[in-house]
Amino acid sequence: MTHRIIYLDHSATTPVSASVLAAMMPYFSEHFGNASGIYSQGRRAKQALEEARATVASVLHCHDDEIIFTSCGSESDNMVLRGVAWTAPQTGRRRHLIISVVEHKAVIVTARQLAQLFDFDLTILPVDGYGRVDPDALRQAIRPDTILISIMAANNEVGTLQPIAELSAIARDHGIPFHTDAVQTPGHLPIDVDAWGVDALALSGHKFYGPKGVGVAYVRRGLGLLPAQTGGGHEGKRRAGTENVAGIVGLATALQEADELRPQEVPRLQALRDRLLAALPDLIPNTRISGHPQQRLPHHASFLFADIEIQGVLMGLDMAGIAASSGSACTSAAQAPSAVLTAMGVDASAAAGHLRLSLGRSTTAADIDTVLDVLPPLVARLRLIST
Ligand code: PLP
Repeated sequence: MTHRIIYLDHSATTPVSASVLAAMMPYFSEHFGNASGIYSQGRRAKQALEEARATVASVLHCHDDEIIFTSCGSESDNMVLRGVAWTAPQTGRRRHLIISVVEHKAVIVTARQLAQLFDFDLTILPVDGYGRVDPDALRQAIRPDTILISIMAANNEVGTLQPIAELSAIARDHGIPFHTDAVQTPGHLPIDVDAWGVDALALSGHKFYGPKGVGVAYVRRGLGLLPAQTGGGHEGKRRAGTENVAGIVGLATALQEADELRPQEVPRLQALRDRLLAALPDLIPNTRISGHPQQRLPHHASFLFADIEIQGVLMGLDMAGIAASSGSACTSAAQAPSAVLTAMGVDASAAAGHLRLSLGRSTTAADIDTVLDVLPPLVARLRLIST
């Protein structure tokens, strides 16, 4: 008998849903044409591409021509940061970027490279103990030469939501474009680029039951964006390269499905997740929740267990058939602690005991019971061994 895996790492990636896979299949071999071709196979591919664009635009509440398909969330972030920054010399002397310290590496590393190699000034905003950016800190950081503000909508490691509409309103008051990495939000938050007040936004198909290798950059009409990837005139001359039609059809189907399931999935997952948040700090001594207790993604639970390295816990969970993660690449005190946790004031030894449990469509109440049965004795055993 094969054992069912309890998969609790949906913030890392999700399985492709059955309907998404079915929608993609014809575009691998039957409708394989190049969307630039003028013959019928090409026109069929082009039609699928434009229908997918319209679907994505309707979920995000924007115009079709504001959607650019990319290869992943990282590329979308790169495209916006570099694309906006590189228009700067043409539009005057404005050369200052603002990001937050809890951004994904796709934003942080890109912004640092622009600062180091291309002479931009970079302000990295701090966060509070919950991982939230203070709107007043943003107000104070803005300069006359600020060209872009990039602050994520929801954090992958600790689940904390940023007050995006409030932050973007500050940017708008100063006439500065505002980008948000919204990779963690589809299916969990309603996305509306006008209500959010954003000029650019990044998504990634594999985070919401779509395929890997396809992403979206929303770029508001009128926002200057120098293409970072040049070549043919694809995607409105903003991203060269033959389109991944099957992947794009899959992403659009997945985004629509996630949006349609959201009203039922959010309360279901939130109730299951709240059981973890309520029970684990009681069942496991010296445990606290990381991230904001309420202003967090509804499927996301994360914890700091004192006096333990999470690697052993993750291996123990794996042996019990439970897939989880620390939420960052660093899972031991010997490695550099997570920059997100450090920015939230968590010291290195506490950060080494960080666990993320991210729930999804397959998660049941029985799965949560199993976690509550398995995790407390596992942590107790490992703490005993390590003393
Ligand atoms: N931004 C956030 C917040 C993420 O969680 C991730 C993936 O973990 C990315 C960007 C990068 O997305 P991709 O894996 O599609 O490059």
